[in-house]
Amino acid sequence: WHLARALPFIIDGEIVRWFGTNTDIHDQKEMQRQKDDFLGIASHELKTPVTSVKAYAQVLGAMLSKEGEEKKAAMVMKMDAQLNRLTNLIGDLLDVTKINSGRIMFNKTWFDFNQAVEDCIQDLQHTTNRHILVMDFKDTGNIYSDKERIGQVITNLVSNAIKYSPQSNRIIISTERDDKMVTVCVEDFGIGIPDDKCGKVFEQFYRVSGSKQHTFPGLGLGLYISNEIIRREGGKMWVNSVEGKGSTFCFSLPVDISDTK
Ligand code: ADP
Repeated sequence: WHLARALPFIIDGEIVRWFGTNTDIHDQKEMQRQKDDFLGIASHELKTPVTSVKAYAQVLGAMLSKEGEEKKAAMVMKMDAQLNRLTNLIGDLLDVTKINSGRIMFNKTWFDFNQAVEDCIQDLQHTTNRHILVMDFKDTGNIYSDKERIGQVITNLVSNAIKYSPQSNRIIISTERDDKMVTVCVEDFGIGIPDDKCGKVFEQFYRVSGSKQHTFPGLGLGLYISNEIIRREGGKMWVNSVEGKGSTFCFSLPVDISDTK
């Protein structure tokens, strides 16, 4: 009976393909693979010229500064800041293709967790005049993980906290540790997320829609990538949020993934 549901498509007495459940799933997977391949190639090809333009912009900015052309140098700095945004967007697209094709790599070492969080926060403090990034750290010691990837996750959560809280001026980043796990939480007092949307924000390309949200730029990839990194490192990520009041994004990571096995 099942076979009867798969219809053969015959040319010159030969079955050239089957229409039915299996074929459709196969087609869908193939389309998804082609989409991922295209995204991977396109973002890789975009990365090279952008990197080159960025290098020229930096040299040009330095030359103009040296010649006392401060106004022109400031314009080139603005170009450079936009190029950074472009580089980050391309980086996110590349990460998504790596995650979806299972090619994402982790380079693990032992490192001081609080120090890594603090380094990210210090970099991000330069990007905002409005917000004070408050650090509330408990002793966490060292963890065995990919420092750069974990830094990417912290940067994403704090950048979101900055972006989605334009009317408030405080963001609290806290860390703690128990026997096996370290936990970091990023609390903002911004626009918040409606209850029924909280579960969706970790999905690929998902962005909360609504009158307030559409003014914020983004592709809806940062939380998907962050959640996948944490999951693959043996941890978990979650969010508590009240619409109009603010959000707290947290993740926990095993101190050493071999402990959890
Ligand atoms: P992006 O910010 O590029 O849209 P993300 O994957 O980082 O993508 O976030 C997905 C969506 O989750 C955002 O579009 C936004 O609607 C919501 N979101 C994420 N972080 C916050 C936050 N701190 N406060 C309110 N909404 C948030």
